[in-house]
Amino acid sequence: METFVNVPEGSHFPLQNLPYGVFERPDDGERHVGVAIGDSVLDLAVLHERGLFEHDALRDERPFDRPSLNAFMSLGRPVWQAVRERVTRLLRADEPALRNDEALRNHALLARDDVTMLLPAEIGDYTDFYSSKEHATNVGTMFRGEENALKPNWTWLPVGYHGRASSVVASGTDVRRPCGQQRPDDNAPPVFGPTKLLDFELEMGFFTGPGNALGESIAVEDAEEHIFGMVIVNDWSARDIQGWEYVPLGPFLGKSFATTVSPWVVPMAALEPFRTGGPEPDHEPLEYLKESGSHAFDIHLETAIQTEVMNAPHTVCRSNFRYLYWSMEQQLAHHTVNGCNVRPGDLLASGTISGPTPDSYGSLLELTWRGAEPLDLPGDAGERTFLEDGDRVVMTAWAEGDDHRVGFGEATGRVLPAR
Ligand code: CA
Repeated sequence: METFVNVPEGSHFPLQNLPYGVFERPDDGERHVGVAIGDSVLDLAVLHERGLFEHDALRDERPFDRPSLNAFMSLGRPVWQAVRERVTRLLRADEPALRNDEALRNHALLARDDVTMLLPAEIGDYTDFYSSKEHATNVGTMFRGEENALKPNWTWLPVGYHGRASSVVASGTDVRRPCGQQRPDDNAPPVFGPTKLLDFELEMGFFTGPGNALGESIAVEDAEEHIFGMVIVNDWSARDIQGWEYVPLGPFLGKSFATTVSPWVVPMAALEPFRTGGPEPDHEPLEYLKESGSHAFDIHLETAIQTEVMNAPHTVCRSNFRYLYWSMEQQLAHHTVNGCNVRPGDLLASGTISGPTPDSYGSLLELTWRGAEPLDLPGDAGERTFLEDGDRVVMTAWAEGDDHRVGFGEATGRVLPAR
């Protein structure tokens, strides 16, 4: 499948991807929904205005002439599919409607470098799971010892907590080092100050489409209909604040200061060719979490660090989305089994995705084994145990096709000194 738009070699955004995002136009400052193709953004609001989307559900709606994807997410999978087919057709090399209309093309196709990307959705609720067995085992081993690493509930339910939606930020937003209580000495009272153990967490998240009514639930076999697409998530963490506060109710201020997401939401249809099996479960789950078929995706994940003295980011972790023990469908079924309602544009993140080998650990906590084994950085950059002021963290992800990549772009953020 060829497109008339230039797609550079190795681009994350070939015709097979077509992720959705929200951007600000450089000419009139309008905020619209667009699709990434090569180094360009296709403005769907402009195409809609021109009458190029004929689907009934889109005739009276203006889901693209908005500063968020929520309205489009709420329309459901048949509409997502129709729009994807239409956009694919319009971008094809053998389709003249857009290709041969110079005025329309100039207005609808913008250079990605010229637009400002915004948060893809107005996120009502953000939930963070803990679905990587390797990560949960590593962290449990460090904090509670090898014997007690995984709590008995872990293989029975997707453990998670309610995160903070207000501090989810788009890639490129600087992150201020948080202050809070820590207790470095177990025999002394806690102290207050900037975190000394600032960390990243390599995660992926999905945005929900149509939700469920309060009091009802989403069955695991129907969950796909409610999953719009995926992004990269960096769930920044302050380990010393977290370590002191987390008993008995779990993460709070050690997590809620910032969460970074990549701006392009890759639709599930684009990831379908990369569907694969996940890890074998330790035992059969309870009935409402049972699913057949393959529910993991082969998505390569990387995290890199660039300190102030480095010219380029240096990769410190390579992992894969398919390592997750609990699938997105199981997470959504579990989340709603008590009747809790999710809404279009909610963000559900996976939890740190660590693999089986030390170079695949998805956080500095694990990569440096709580600071005991510092990472060597190239050149004069020295070593790192946890993040220092000025460090930039760059996460990227892609699925590898035969001759193309279906990618997620980047989720980046730089650490600013504490106030
Ligand atoms: Ca997390």
